[in-house]
Amino acid sequence: MSRAVAEVDLTAIAHNLNLIKAKSNAQVLAVVKADAYGHGLIPVAKAAVAAGAHWLGTALLEEGIALRAAGVKAPLICWLTPLGEDLKTAIKNNIDLSVSSMELLEEIIDAGRAANIVPRIHLEVDTGMTRGGVRNDWAEFVAEIAKAVKDNGVEVVGLWSHFARADEPDQSFNQQQLDTFHKRLAILISQGINPQFVHIANSAAALTNKDSYKNIVRWGIGLYGLSPDVNTLGSSGTLNLKPAMKLKAKLHLVKEVEAGAQVGYGGTATVNANTKIGVVTMGYADGIPRNTNNSAGVFVAGKRAPLLGRVSMDQFVVDLGLQSTAKTGDEVVIFGDGSAGEYTIDEWASAASTINYEIVTRIGPRVPRIYPRG
Ligand SMILES: *Cc1c(COP(=O)(O)O)cnc(C)c1O
Repeated sequence: MSRAVAEVDLTAIAHNLNLIKAKSNAQVLAVVKADAYGHGLIPVAKAAVAAGAHWLGTALLEEGIALRAAGVKAPLICWLTPLGEDLKTAIKNNIDLSVSSMELLEEIIDAGRAANIVPRIHLEVDTGMTRGGVRNDWAEFVAEIAKAVKDNGVEVVGLWSHFARADEPDQSFNQQQLDTFHKRLAILISQGINPQFVHIANSAAALTNKDSYKNIVRWGIGLYGLSPDVNTLGSSGTLNLKPAMKLKAKLHLVKEVEAGAQVGYGGTATVNANTKIGVVTMGYADGIPRNTNNSAGVFVAGKRAPLLGRVSMDQFVVDLGLQSTAKTGDEVVIFGDGSAGEYTIDEWASAASTINYEIVTRIGPRVPRIYPRG
């Protein structure tokens, strides 16, 4: 094994996809943005499609184009295209685009004319997230869209929105968003545009709110076997999700240190009693969060070894304990699904005061992704 690897279990990806397919009659869109949440864009997308994902979705256009270049043919949406992107290549590659401004609509129409193809678009409506999507003046926007449709400038394939609080137990804000969504859809239909696809659910909504399914659910964090919110929805295990990523590194050095030793930059941790420490070959340049407390660490020689002191750029130190049998050169598991006793992604997230989404997406490009069973 090299210095550090992220092992991704594609059978877990398939399991997690099937879990949502079994729950919902809607089509499933596998969200593979951000390098498939750090798990590797192409292998994950291919595994998701092989397991029955109807759609793929990314934020960035270059991710969508990379999927097409790798021969992935599934219906695909890229929903974050600022002005000035290579929309002609997108349209030629049969990539659906999302529209939430008149400026982008014009660019898409022009690119479609240049490509001699009618672009496929999904209209994004802001129903309360207050991020992307058309918020006010929906009727005016729809009137412009209707004109563009009549001129064969675009084909409206979908209407979509995004929840702000789908992971919260109180459903009242979600219900408000759904009500607004239905009203916007009614206006669209009254202008003669009846999109084939209507979608709003993310993973949290897909797990908790059947009314949100419409005809596509966008399955993101759940695809990777992680809970959208461990506090409100429970752990991966409770949800029967299988975390797909296992992060491994090596012990660069094992040595004894005496009580009172101060560890790492700033000497922020002091060793209470004589112990053995292990130097782990990953650091914040690889995506290990620098501000992590000692409720995370690594699993080595059959035991948990908690973090000691600050994470450095390329390495961090763990407390192996005086009795540890760990040796220089041993492999360590930084996180995994927890089944062998290792720390989980959720434990790392909690120790670093962040969410599991950030732990997996921040694993950097220096760390090879490997697919042992795929
Ligand atoms: C990231 C994203 C999702 C997936 O969200 P999860 O919480 O990971 O399921 C769905 N839709 C859009 C528009 C997104 O950007």
